[in-house]
Amino acid sequence: MLLDASHLWKVYGEGDARVEALRDVCLSVEAGEFVAIMGPSGSGKSTLMNLLGCLDKPTRGTYRVEGEDVSRLSATDLAHRRNRTLGFVFQAFNLLPRTSALANVQLPMLYAGVPSKELERRARAALERVGLGDRLSHLPSELSGGQQQRVAIARAIVNRPKVILADEPTGNLDSKTSAQILELFQQLRDEGLTILYVTHEPDVAEYASRLVVVKDGRIAQDGPQTPKQAGPGVAA
Ligand code: ADP
Repeated sequence: MLLDASHLWKVYGEGDARVEALRDVCLSVEAGEFVAIMGPSGSGKSTLMNLLGCLDKPTRGTYRVEGEDVSRLSATDLAHRRNRTLGFVFQAFNLLPRTSALANVQLPMLYAGVPSKELERRARAALERVGLGDRLSHLPSELSGGQQQRVAIARAIVNRPKVILADEPTGNLDSKTSAQILELFQQLRDEGLTILYVTHEPDVAEYASRLVVVKDGRIAQDGPQTPKQAGPGVAA
């Protein structure tokens, strides 16, 4: 099992301020799955993503990534695990503003210690993969929202992670651009990546082949679904 969360609880605060953000969540994801985690605002989706992404630790329960219990890792080992296995995509793109697309995509490789002569070649290949081979030296402000999210996806895949975790990846995009980004995720999944994304929109969740619904910190529904295919005219 690639990701295996077992009986996760996350409790914030104490006394009157106590919030049980996750309550006894069990979620296992195999390599190659394409999973949408859907739920209303405040249901615990971001908390769950932070735990799955090794950005935070559960109050109780165990979480295994490729069989390794990450709740026992030190902060440094956790960061290594993140760098090796996971790529992140955010709603707000989170690109460095005065930095070219090429340099933005090189950044995670610097942390991973990729040899300098490899940096440009791999960043260029990742940008070509997301359809931005002709925008290498553009700044984020010179790119559309959809193009900025493609740069962010190139940055997420450049270290060749096994899993992409995306938090509301289409939240800042119009519906046509959203469909293009979701179709790009479908293609990356077909190439072997495992993808999990969070959304509060049913239309966006339809593109995944497994739907997990979170309500009040619990998993209310979890099962396969027939993914929506992007129609003609929105091919990536
Ligand atoms: P969602 O992503 O579905 O909107 P969240 O995971 O952000 O939900 O939040 C789940 C619950 O946990 C909410 O009630 C929220 O107010 C609470 N919460 C989230 N983060 C914190 C925090 N750092 N401290 C206290 N409460 C938090």
